[in-house]
Amino acid sequence: MLTFIRDIDMRALAEMHGMSREYLSLYLPVGGKEVGSENAIFVQRRLRDLKKVLPDAEKAELEQIMDKIGPVIDEDTIPQEMGRVIFATTKGIDYYRISLEAERKLVWDSSPYILPLAMLREEYQPYGLVLVDSRKMVLYLIRSEVLSQMDGASFDLMNKHKKGGMSQRRFQRHREGAIDHFLKRVVEDMGIYLEVEGLRGIVITGPGEPKKQLIELLTPDLSGKVIGVIDLDMDSTCGDLVKGGDIVAARDERAEEKISLEEFRVAVMKGDGGAYGVDEVRGLLEEGRVSMLLIQRGLKIMGWLCESCHNLHEGTDMPGSCPLCGSAVTCVDYVEEIFKLAERSGTIVEFIGEGTYLESVGGLGAILRY
Ligand SMILES: [Zn+2]
Repeated sequence: MLTFIRDIDMRALAEMHGMSREYLSLYLPVGGKEVGSENAIFVQRRLRDLKKVLPDAEKAELEQIMDKIGPVIDEDTIPQEMGRVIFATTKGIDYYRISLEAERKLVWDSSPYILPLAMLREEYQPYGLVLVDSRKMVLYLIRSEVLSQMDGASFDLMNKHKKGGMSQRRFQRHREGAIDHFLKRVVEDMGIYLEVEGLRGIVITGPGEPKKQLIELLTPDLSGKVIGVIDLDMDSTCGDLVKGGDIVAARDERAEEKISLEEFRVAVMKGDGGAYGVDEVRGLLEEGRVSMLLIQRGLKIMGWLCESCHNLHEGTDMPGSCPLCGSAVTCVDYVEEIFKLAERSGTIVEFIGEGTYLESVGGLGAILRY
């Protein structure tokens, strides 16, 4: 079954943690023989590299896990599946078939590697799409590039079998009143069917004037949800609808990033409510004082972590044991650990594109609660 990224319990994944390296995380694109053989080459190469540096006990564990997930990697793709994400230990396997292309990644660590999933989740928030002309409307929900028509929420004035059916002659005679009446029904249905949790917003599309008339009739609540209006024909293909909608959604995401970034910049400039710097942001997250964490996409910071007391530090200069509790420490992806810290405490995380003010302060920023 296809899993929509929004439905993956990211917080539960962020809370999973072993006492040593025991989680294999694997991201693969799927579809076709060629992709399959490239995946196989990639996995073999990554395993070979890992085995060169791992102690024998871990090598054996890794091999055991690979035997288990082999069949999962080789399973045929299902309709609309574009990527596969696998988290496995010797004890069990969790895997998701997703409708978005996953960049190849194989990570062996003490917890599942979830940063790529988190970035996809932000980029592909679900949104509604209303396709409307003067006599027909269809409502769609688009999740992770998959378009589904919302049951019961479409009607055609000419189709007598559905509610609101009207003959061609009657329609022509009462044309203006009919359109107005029809559009009011569209507004009603939008209010009912687009009440979806985590919805980014609504895109309104269709040919010509009716969508403008529709916008004038919207309630303030619905009007506030509209993220864009685009021209598309009523017989547009699903692919065209998703493509058009995605352009609006991406623009909306960039606008959101800009707003968060500006809020952060102003807070830092005023010297009140904003913080940056690797250690400072971590400390504030641990104190639960961060309302929004800003992470630059593609940021790489190496660090180390105590598996026992979760003491987290930046840098590759790893001590022999944890200075706080004496337990073993492991080398970690610092950005991943910072993200998990935020996710576990329910802090909003915003990923920001490169080349912004955030980059100039090191790629990690925090807007504070107090
Ligand atoms: Zn410790």
